[in-house]
Amino acid sequence: MLSTIELLEVTDFPNIRRDRTQTLQVNLGYRCNQTCVHCHVNAGPNRTEMMSDALIDLIPQVLKTRNIDTLDLTGGAPEMHPRFRELVRAARALGLLARHTSTPSCCGSHWPCWCLDACYSRSAA
Ligand code: SF4
Repeated sequence: MLSTIELLEVTDFPNIRRDRTQTLQVNLGYRCNQTCVHCHVNAGPNRTEMMSDALIDLIPQVLKTRNIDTLDLTGGAPEMHPRFRELVRAARALGLLARHTSTPSCCGSHWPCWCLDACYSRSAA
């Protein structure tokens, strides 16, 4: 890896300070129903890497103890993880906003799907 520190320019841009974590973004795995050539994680139907149960179990604890406002699920297609709905329900039960980044094609003919109701409706749980 090439060193780049010497390439940095001195500027008057203000220092960046870290504040409280407001959003926890979690990549649930690389499985997806698409095979887009531009995919930056090379997701697809043949990818098998998915977040383990042990790590999934930690997510509600992290949300609670860190007082996080939003759970943001991504992948691949996060809906293809077998515990996707459970995670959304857990976040909603904590009063958090749950959102996800995915492709509507994952929902097939059920658009608007459970994900929309669960993630974006304040009344769904
Ligand atoms: S839909 Fe998104 S995650 Fe799936 S292959 Fe395309 S870019 Fe990757």
